[in-house]
Amino acid sequence: MYWNKEAETLKPDELKRLQGKRLRKLVKYVYDRSALYRNKFKEAGIKPADIKEISDITKLPYTTKQDLRDNYPFNMFCVPMEEIVRIHASSGTTGKPTVVGYTRNDIDMWTEAMARTIVAPGGSKKDILHNAYGYGLFTGGLGFHYGGERVGCAVIPVSGGNTKRQLLLLKDFGGTILSCTPSYSIYLAEAAVNEGMDPKEDFKLRVGIFGAEPWSNAMRKRIEDALDIKATDVYGLSEICGPGVAQECEEQAGAHIWSDHFYPEVIDPNTGEQVGEGEQGELVFTTLTKEGIPLIRYRTRDLTVLDHEKCACGRYHPRMLRIRGRSDDMLIIRGVNVFPSQIEHVLMKFSDFAAHYLLVLGKKGPLDTLTVKAEVTPEVISDKVKDMMKLKAALKSELEQALGISIDVELVEPGTIPRSEGKAVRIKDERGDL
Ligand SMILES: [Zn+2]
Repeated sequence: MYWNKEAETLKPDELKRLQGKRLRKLVKYVYDRSALYRNKFKEAGIKPADIKEISDITKLPYTTKQDLRDNYPFNMFCVPMEEIVRIHASSGTTGKPTVVGYTRNDIDMWTEAMARTIVAPGGSKKDILHNAYGYGLFTGGLGFHYGGERVGCAVIPVSGGNTKRQLLLLKDFGGTILSCTPSYSIYLAEAAVNEGMDPKEDFKLRVGIFGAEPWSNAMRKRIEDALDIKATDVYGLSEICGPGVAQECEEQAGAHIWSDHFYPEVIDPNTGEQVGEGEQGELVFTTLTKEGIPLIRYRTRDLTVLDHEKCACGRYHPRMLRIRGRSDDMLIIRGVNVFPSQIEHVLMKFSDFAAHYLLVLGKKGPLDTLTVKAEVTPEVISDKVKDMMKLKAALKSELEQALGISIDVELVEPGTIPRSEGKAVRIKDERGDL
């Protein structure tokens, strides 16, 4: 299903032409309005007239999170404050938050992208959208809210938290689409069972739109089984607009990037050169139509692979394969790169483990250690003949094979890994000063 059939089914050459036209306009726009970009262009020896088509984008300099930090809070805005109608900010786990300002047109464009995002996995005005993303400075709640209203869904702005109330509303209001983090969806299913409900029978959910944290296909299967829904992946980041930069269609074969607005590239994070088709690298976005704080070649630090083949849904908008993680999330254990998503993938292969786990980093002498705390299901506890030592050994062996390093495994009782009502906390660093 399409929200905007014309834009969503543009052919590759039509997309390129439109992207080129929008890039030319954007480059002139930021050159005229942003001291940062004027200086960056001068340093790179580039003038707006040098940019003629979309492939010329490689001549342009990158923008980084540091640029946003250095210009905190409003110095990268390209319009006066009287034209800004909304401000969002990222949580800023390290240092100051990243601030984004939206003009009325920016909100409109984002809402359009969100409408496409809700319709692509099968949403329509007949749906009731149970929106459990947090409302506030975080973009998740309001992004889905505006998109849902534009599609014509009945939007329930429940926001994050207060799980008991969420369950009550899911049962009584009958939400058909659930939007939240994937870890919260599995928590809702588990909490429903604890309250004596059967989420498959008592809820009317049929589609889930989950994002804001990396998750594996194995986790997708868990969620789909627990809630009896089609679980789809939404991708976004506040610097670009918020959620709705990319979304999976009903094929569930990678999230379509709405590339008439957000032009993607994948680069080698070390050299800054574009990688070949099908190769993994760092995802970079240029916002082709933003006014408040347009970004040129913004380095997301997310690692992915792009697929430009036509999708069975009829769209050519490139698909990003599941994010392996942020380059920031990557753990380096004794010189080996480890992504939490790799560990999740192994854990979810065992039906004995719940979808909650914690990775504890420690030190033994000068060496880093990794302990995977895996929570067993209540069924494992009540199964008197289950050999816990064997289960632990099996998990350790599978994990070590997948990661290529030796690790420790600890099995913990059901319900002991702390649940989060927003983004899951998966890593605990006990290494002290580095
Ligand atoms: Zn598709």
